[in-house]
Amino acid sequence: MKQSAYERARDQAIADEVGASWVRSPLMCAAAGCPLPWSVSGERGKACSAHYWAPPHEWPRITQRILDAIADRDRYAAAGRAASVPVTSEMRKAAVAALHAYVDDRHGDPRAWARELQRRHEAGERLRPDKVQAYRGVLRLDV
Ligand SMILES: [Zn+2]
Repeated sequence: MKQSAYERARDQAIADEVGASWVRSPLMCAAAGCPLPWSVSGERGKACSAHYWAPPHEWPRITQRILDAIADRDRYAAAGRAASVPVTSEMRKAAVAALHAYVDDRHGDPRAWARELQRRHEAGERLRPDKVQAYRGVLRLDV
């Protein structure tokens, strides 16, 4: 039977499509269907570490577990993304107001934390040596 040009092109397209799935990259694990690149090369060939160190009769089960793990990872990654909350100008104003309140609460004194530590220390509270050293250094007391 004589083939027309159309049939040859169609046949070639089918062959290309099938061949692309059958011809594996030389970088891939030797186990059939394994989606991982090889990472161990030795007398048993080139395979991912999961397949290389396992007996060949275990390979189909290992391949399935790898595929399941990838599917689970992709599914959880897609489900785990929190919906983004658009930031409104009211939210920005509230955040700036909270920041101003925090700064105003410190009465504009950048060393207020050190004075508070000094007050607590002199009131008898036991502080870690690094905290004492920190407030004494900031307040320029004898270090
Ligand atoms: Zn593998």
